[in-house]
Amino acid sequence: TELLAKPIEKIRTQLEDLQKADASIVRINELFEMKSLIADGPGTPIGSGPLSVELSDVSFSYEGAEGKPTLRQLDFRLAPGEVLGLLGRTGSGKSTLARLLLRFYDPQQGAIRLGGTDIRDAKVSELRSRVAMVTQSIEIMEGTVRDNLTFYDEQISDARIAEVLDDLGLGSWYASLPQGLDTMLASGGGGLSAGEAQLLAFARVFLSDPGLIIMDEASSRLDPLTEQRIERATQKLLEARTCIIIAHRLATVQRADRILVLEDGEIVEEGLRAALAAEPGSRFSRMMKTGMEEVLV
Ligand code: ADP
Repeated sequence: TELLAKPIEKIRTQLEDLQKADASIVRINELFEMKSLIADGPGTPIGSGPLSVELSDVSFSYEGAEGKPTLRQLDFRLAPGEVLGLLGRTGSGKSTLARLLLRFYDPQQGAIRLGGTDIRDAKVSELRSRVAMVTQSIEIMEGTVRDNLTFYDEQISDARIAEVLDDLGLGSWYASLPQGLDTMLASGGGGLSAGEAQLLAFARVFLSDPGLIIMDEASSRLDPLTEQRIERATQKLLEARTCIIIAHRLATVQRADRILVLEDGEIVEEGLRAALAAEPGSRFSRMMKTGMEEVLV
């Protein structure tokens, strides 16, 4: 609750804005509403550093959904620091899996463990501070640059913020801010370019030092220079961190250690990227030949 109190409070005081608000704000609101549906765990710690991810026989259906479960008997393990490329057509269940990892919903069957802890045993607030979700939409709230970057942890020093902005290629942007970190940003990221907003969102994730990053990679194209900056920042983000990427680009997929292909809620292929790429009959190597767009759209 503490983690969300600040952004939620901001959203509440901007109700008029909400009508024209972007999806991200609506999503934060949803997250707040959903939270009450989930029982908080007794508080088993999740642990520090990069986290392992373990799904054991996980099946899940949305309430009221008929027919086959949305996710069926998912079993896989990701070691700490590994990067997983999560592939599958629209509707195959990729976002649903991400939502389960953040406990927006609990599976009806099976268990999800992060760092060896069943996520139902952890405090929801700890879970959501250890797992960062990076989405395509820009989640900038009205407030200073500092507010936007430190709402996970207000102890973060200005020096650390400057270092991270520099690392991500935002050094000259930062230097040009009229009031430095006290410069106000408008909600929805007005005044920032799409690339800058995306990089700021990355900076926020960096500063929260998560043990697992779930990244829903942007599928829309930005200008080549911005693409390059985001590419480099993504590389930085993935270093020594466990990461699950819902990937839309070949370049990103090629950075994954492991590949998991979902089809209609089931794992149809999983393994080390290099091994799957070397196997001529694998879905993954076929994808590499025909291009991701054709296979995944
Ligand atoms: P992907 O991210 O791979 O596109 P999703 O996880 O969004 O797939 O969707 C998997 C399936 O679950 C789809 O059939 C979709 O229609 C359904 N679904 C997604 N969200 C909901 C929801 N909130 N309620 C009911 N069904 C949903």
